[in-house]
Amino acid sequence: MKKSAKPGAERVKQGSGPEGICRELGLKLTPQRLAILEYLDGNTAHPGAEEIYEAVSGRFPGLSLATVYNTLASLRDKGRLLELAIDPAKRRYDPDTKPHHHLICVACRRIVDIEHTFDLEIPDALRMGFEIKGNEIGFYGRCPDCKKTDARKQKRDLRQGGAYVRRP
Ligand SMILES: [Zn+2]
Ligand SMILES: [Zn+2]
Repeated sequence: MKKSAKPGAERVKQGSGPEGICRELGLKLTPQRLAILEYLDGNTAHPGAEEIYEAVSGRFPGLSLATVYNTLASLRDKGRLLELAIDPAKRRYDPDTKPHHHLICVACRRIVDIEHTFDLEIPDALRMGFEIKGNEIGFYGRCPDCKKTDARKQKRDLRQGGAYVRRP
């Protein structure tokens, strides 16, 4: 199959920037809100509301968690932010609103984007008459860092166990 996407076309900037988004959503343009939008712009870490609050409140000590939640809700309602429910511990936010999937580390809760289209179809009998518009898949596992930590921990446990030390 021929690739149709032009190089560099996958991350097209929306052009409006944080200030434009505020105007577009009819939000009062406050420095705090602007800082929240700037923090989210291009952010691929899928942060939770508390992380956003912590990151931004360093610069704006007067910022309240309620402002963060309100701003996130407005962005989500206008389709400028995805609210993800794939982490049972908390809602996570994704400024990339294009359809995409996620890798989720069950140990450190890291979430990584997968830019890939899966050719999935549901048999008619399971579709319950739904017209399918898209899908979002979460792949759960352990990230490379956690795999390394696991391996180190295993080695240490073995060493502490004495009898299991492998001689060089
Ligand atoms: Zn991990
Ligand atoms: Zn994502």
